[in-house]
Amino acid sequence: MSRAANSLNMHGITWFLICFFLSCTPTHAANENIQVKANAPQHVVLMSLDGFRHDYVELHNAKHLNRIAKDGIRSASLTPVYPANTFPNHISLVTGLLPKNHGIVNNRFYDKSRPYMQNDMPGYAQYKLGGGLKDSTWITGIPLWTLAEYHGLKAGAFFWPESDARISGALPTYHYHYSKFASYQQRIDQIVQWMSLPEVSRPRFVAGYFSLTDTIGHNEGPNSQATRDAVQFVDGLIGQLYDRLNALEINVNLVVVSDHGMTNIDNNALIDVATLNISDNFIAENEGAQIHLYALPGVSDDEISREKERLNSISQGKFLVLNDSQRADRAMQKGDRTGDILLEIAPPARFISGGQTYSNKGSHGYLNTLPDMGALFIAAGPAFKKGATLPAFSNLEIYPALAKILGITPLSPIDGKIDVLEDAFTL
Ligand code: AMP
Ligand code: ZN
Ligand code: ZN
Repeated sequence: MSRAANSLNMHGITWFLICFFLSCTPTHAANENIQVKANAPQHVVLMSLDGFRHDYVELHNAKHLNRIAKDGIRSASLTPVYPANTFPNHISLVTGLLPKNHGIVNNRFYDKSRPYMQNDMPGYAQYKLGGGLKDSTWITGIPLWTLAEYHGLKAGAFFWPESDARISGALPTYHYHYSKFASYQQRIDQIVQWMSLPEVSRPRFVAGYFSLTDTIGHNEGPNSQATRDAVQFVDGLIGQLYDRLNALEINVNLVVVSDHGMTNIDNNALIDVATLNISDNFIAENEGAQIHLYALPGVSDDEISREKERLNSISQGKFLVLNDSQRADRAMQKGDRTGDILLEIAPPARFISGGQTYSNKGSHGYLNTLPDMGALFIAAGPAFKKGATLPAFSNLEIYPALAKILGITPLSPIDGKIDVLEDAFTL
């Protein structure tokens, strides 16, 4: 070997040693807490703040979320799937599937392929929020916690809609049955404790959930002082979680999302389902922003068409009787669970049931692309670039993105693909 080559080689070795030394030393990102531990596994903590609208950070001065966004990335909004309701969106977030493919097409719905007698009358079985605990066959798809476990990693969930259902045949190693009464501090403490476990038992993926901003947003409306107080409260807890996670000697990424936004309701613009005089040939599921109508066994296509025409003629611009192309746009094509006829209303109006008094000042569930339905996305940690602001993107991107961070691959086809998030990673 020539002297020059030898000297280059020596330089190479020196550089290799320097780089090796540097890579073993935590490299300090601008936030000194975010340390990349080379060759150490990545962890993800995914927190959902139910009903936290994308613009609450500014509107209600969420300073901790703002601080986390500055350490990592934030998008202008996170576009929910249709309809902008809790269960379809939470399941899409953790499966990367559209509601028609993961099965949870609304918070409540019937299934025409599940005949069920009720009060001696033929009908269909009904799914209601949390129904996967008793019957997990409602949900199809591989949730992220199960995907992690299938790859030999541990996972945990301190609540997430349907995280206590045996979806795809398995539960996360660590999980709780849902109780809205469980203290939020307990949830944070437990998540930190899971992430502090020895590596052999430590979950690589943990999901967590707070419902407060949704509950208060419904009761008092998105612009209210009460919603501001709720935002401040959960913001403080997320700030605490972030700091405590960063104090651990592991690569941990905190991803904060919400399922949908919140918009003002005009209580003078409510439509009572009873006033629609829906034919007895149908079961109606009123979800507030939609009514799904399921033809009973034996009802002909002609009868369905006639009811659809009748509803169209009385709608007078107050609601939509979705046609096939509108249903396709919303990925809500006619099916056993989505119904034979689908009615949709726009805010600030809402469907109410049988003389129900509806006092909510805020709500959601509407067309997913309406700005007020836009959800939150903020993430920080060694896997994310620092200080990047992204445009709005679909929440179907979350699943493949988190799988990528964890170094695991989806085991079945999904609807989401990494697109806007492509530029977000350091990995
Ligand atoms: P909504 O505003 O009706 O779309 O749904 C939000 C409600 O879902 C919240 O008030 C929660 O209490 C409830 N919820 C959230 N997770 C679960 C769960 N795993 N099981 C049952 N209910 C839940
Ligand atoms: Zn929700
Ligand atoms: Zn809600």
